[in-house]
Amino acid sequence: MSEFRAYIRSQLARWDPRWAEEWDQAIGDGQTAAALGRIKKLGGDPDFCLYVLADYRWRKLRPLRDLRHRDELLRAINALLRASDLWASVLRRGSPALSSEAMQDFLFEARLQLQAARALDEGPFSRTTTDRSPRGKEWLSDRQSTCLSLLDRHIRHGSGRRRRARRVLADILTAFGLLSASKDPERWVEKRLERIDPKARFPLRVSYQWFHDVHRQAGTRCSRACELWRVSRDRTDPSRDADDDLFLGSEVRFVRNQAEEVRPSRGSADARPPAIAVDQPVDRRSAEKNTGKNAQTR
Ligand SMILES: [Zn+2]
Repeated sequence: MSEFRAYIRSQLARWDPRWAEEWDQAIGDGQTAAALGRIKKLGGDPDFCLYVLADYRWRKLRPLRDLRHRDELLRAINALLRASDLWASVLRRGSPALSSEAMQDFLFEARLQLQAARALDEGPFSRTTTDRSPRGKEWLSDRQSTCLSLLDRHIRHGSGRRRRARRVLADILTAFGLLSASKDPERWVEKRLERIDPKARFPLRVSYQWFHDVHRQAGTRCSRACELWRVSRDRTDPSRDADDDLFLGSEVRFVRNQAEEVRPSRGSADARPPAIAVDQPVDRRSAEKNTGKNAQTR
């Protein structure tokens, strides 16, 4: 096993030894080897794909403490947003320098963050907040969609083709247990990609950047995904990227907040750069589409 793959496995094992066993099974699957070979041939980066798969396949949900307080804050924000003209102007007198638009923006943003924060959604490689439940289907569905969308865009980015590699995507998601083989996986991939809201996609460049951080922690050299990350830098224009089919995205559009509950003793989670909690596009159009969903759009 390559150094990078051994590193990914070791991080999974630190969280849960069963995850490492499941990883071994997925990696040992002939379908995985064939799909990774095909991805490389197309101009993609097999290690980047494995990193994305590992990040979305093996995660846990942990409820945040004191959710009652969250509900109180939401009620308070809603009351402020509903303030009538008279009371809104009284409130504004408290801070004349703040325009009513800036105040509304802050309250909308704060409400989105709170709505999306019921539990910590975390794995060895990233951490965010979500309002999903571990029992419902939505959490798995979110992870399937984000993982699929990232892999699809990466393969098209690397290959320069517009056509989707449906078969490769179906095979690799099935081998990693993100998709049931009984469901006509290729058709599922096609339908799911059509259904994903373009505004809710996770920016590819951010994922490249995180991959770069992880492979550096593994002590391995830059690969194809890092190359794509670097050459795409110059043409990352936030105003254009929202409509870009690949949606590369840009760090500039992101705000980064620390999660309230960080476990510094938790292995690799603190080995990563600042906690990847609630990374969310600042762009209101994107943010509003994500209301009630996972704040990281993943
Ligand atoms: Zn790199």
